[in-house]
Amino acid sequence: MNDYDAERIREILRRRGYQTTDDAEEADLVLLNTCSIREKAEAKVSSAAASFRGLKGRRPDVVLAVAGCVAQQEGARLLERLPQVDLVFGPDNIGRCADLVERVRESRRRVAVTDVIDVEDYTFLSADPRPEDVGTTVLVTIQKGCDNHCAYCVVPAVRGREVSRPLREVVAEVERFVAAGAREVTLIGQNVDSYRGAGGGTDDFVTLLVAVARVPGLLRLRFTTSHPRDFTPALARAFHDLPVLQGWLHLPVQAGSSRVLAAMGRGYTREEYLAKVDLVRGLVPEIALTTDVIVGFPGETADEHRETLSLLEAVEFESIYSFAYSARPGTPAAALRDDVPLEEKRARLHQVQALQQLVTARRLARLVGRRTPVLVEGESRRGEQVCGRTPGNIVVNFAPAAGTAPGSLRGRIVPVHVTAAGTHTLRGEPA
Ligand code: SAH
Ligand code: SF4
Repeated sequence: MNDYDAERIREILRRRGYQTTDDAEEADLVLLNTCSIREKAEAKVSSAAASFRGLKGRRPDVVLAVAGCVAQQEGARLLERLPQVDLVFGPDNIGRCADLVERVRESRRRVAVTDVIDVEDYTFLSADPRPEDVGTTVLVTIQKGCDNHCAYCVVPAVRGREVSRPLREVVAEVERFVAAGAREVTLIGQNVDSYRGAGGGTDDFVTLLVAVARVPGLLRLRFTTSHPRDFTPALARAFHDLPVLQGWLHLPVQAGSSRVLAAMGRGYTREEYLAKVDLVRGLVPEIALTTDVIVGFPGETADEHRETLSLLEAVEFESIYSFAYSARPGTPAAALRDDVPLEEKRARLHQVQALQQLVTARRLARLVGRRTPVLVEGESRRGEQVCGRTPGNIVVNFAPAAGTAPGSLRGRIVPVHVTAAGTHTLRGEPA
């Protein structure tokens, strides 16, 4: 989501004559786009802002801005805490960012803007892609905010109520990206399967997928994140019915114990989650599944933690994102007594990751010797190799056939014979 927002900020500033630079020494504006989902992400903001103290000392005219969810959460407090910061603005104010920067430059006053736009008045920023900036794979936002209340999560507080982007706007943006050279689109939102486009909420998520799948020139379609509670049989069938929709589903489980899931307010049990996995695998046996896991939620016992481990064993995800729980300001869980010490959280996280490493190795090994279509995204760091992804979203590196220039394969789907598996990636050769 922040990647998508950062691109829109870049476009808005570009229209005002700004260019991007990798060298802060020649910048007029330094902008930090921030995340507050976990404590660690938030801590990075202070250290990043501090690292520009020298620059601000030498060139006081440089505007240092903080955007994103930490900006939304902290507002004017950030100006107090970080004296080198000039401008703070939240996600709903991205559309005004160029004006805000100008205001700071002209008035030499420090500004914090954290207004939230009402649901009825919300309009989505529109991407304005240029062929020279667009990669093979792009993100397109279909929804902002979240109406769920997961006890640990700060998103509803910083991103506000859930709003779905009108279907025709999503389709038009996908068309613009494809015209600019993109070949794969990932539709993004916090809870895409509760998407309700159009005034009366008649366009559901499957309707949207069907409409986007028809865009000429789009080779691959993905989406993230779907909520297990709202994942429907109709959505599972879409994987089967829409050839452009790739066989990859990110379905965050968070915990393996039904008691912990209830305490988290997730709205499904372990058994219901496993039934949905069976449903989708029944329709699309080759689908790759990935998930998010939180360890050490307040009150999680050692036995309940073992239920998370056994769920990882039972499902066999291709890969997972795993996190130690951290309390976020203003969330319901922040009021709970956290009786899982940090050391124990770290130990549980380590167990989850060690187990998943084995499972991932098992899943990747299954692919060795098989043939798989790879959408080439670019050249790998090593030089003559190109890299791309399988339908299941696994990175594959391979050397193009003799006489084929690596650059000519970008944006094309190449059949690849998988020859070896690494820790997270595959190697292959043109089939
Ligand atoms: N909307 C998505 C997730 C968005 S946040 C969903 O419902 O699944 C991305 C991930 O960050 C979450 O899935 C969760 O695993 C993790 N996360 C969120 N809040 C957290 C917290 N307070 N501590 C640790 N991990 C957290
Ligand atoms: Fe956060 Fe839950 Fe919404 Fe995901 S569904 S963004 S975890 S509140």
